[in-house]
Amino acid sequence: MSRTATPSFALSRRALLAGLASLPLAAPALHASAAAPAITATTGMIADLARRLTGGPVSALMGPGMDPHGYRPTRSDILALSRADLILWHGLNLEAQFTDVMADLSRRTPVLAVAETIPKDRLLSDPAYPDRPDPHVWFDPDLWLIAAESIAAALEEQGFDTGARLAGLRADVAALQTYCAATLATVPEPARVLVTAHDAFAYFGRAHGWQVEGIQGISTESEAGLARIGELVDLLVSRRIPAVFVESSVSDRTIRALIEGADAQGHYVTIGGELFSDAMGPDGSYEGTWIGMIDHNVTTIARALGGDAPERGMVGKLDAGT
Ligand SMILES: [Zn+2]
Repeated sequence: MSRTATPSFALSRRALLAGLASLPLAAPALHASAAAPAITATTGMIADLARRLTGGPVSALMGPGMDPHGYRPTRSDILALSRADLILWHGLNLEAQFTDVMADLSRRTPVLAVAETIPKDRLLSDPAYPDRPDPHVWFDPDLWLIAAESIAAALEEQGFDTGARLAGLRADVAALQTYCAATLATVPEPARVLVTAHDAFAYFGRAHGWQVEGIQGISTESEAGLARIGELVDLLVSRRIPAVFVESSVSDRTIRALIEGADAQGHYVTIGGELFSDAMGPDGSYEGTWIGMIDHNVTTIARALGGDAPERGMVGKLDAGT
């Protein structure tokens, strides 16, 4: 039959099949094979890569400001996952509450743990837990590009041609790397210390040669101790670090404790801005893309710590209000 049905029939094949059970038998037969495979990702950072590589819509279960460490799948998440043709999640224990769900889904749907395709010897881990790699790999563009290549391979199996789009992404990542290196180099050396709420930025530190200190551990599920806060106050005061950073997906309560602690010792510390750590900016905005997220962070960090960076970032697209 021809595809003269109304646009509302442009459903994905699986959504269609799932919906068919509840339709009356007289419903018109549909030409399902023309629908693009439905892709569902857990985090926004993964969905962004998949959007770039397909040029089409990819849904993310976790939106702006959501913390993947503690996020529990909802009923509608499970429904979306069960209707997908390809599921992309992070792995490395980032979305810890999804482990059983993904194991279950992988029996009937292709499921790719994108960060687990990165060679193990390139991952960081806390010396106390060598078997638990740090999952925050999207802050090292080289590693996130490896994840993108793995996603591209999975998309090729779904019939997408990703060659030209992957090449475009590689070129954009190279430009991003150049901007990050040049911008961060403008920060005076003693101030190259990033103090944040939780330990999300170790890969950033390794990639750029910066000292990185989080109040909480690698997961936001751990509680920060008073001793740790005291240690960081001493660091801020002794190195005269002018700013610390809050994160979009983590409470800023402990960051305020640091500022008060330094203040009590006569050292004034400001909040240098809000960084995107485990979630991106608003949907549809430049900060709502992975490259925009990195640009925002690097630009914010450099400007707050005495460096020199354009207010609107690498390509003039940053929201100047943030
Ligand atoms: Zn995190």
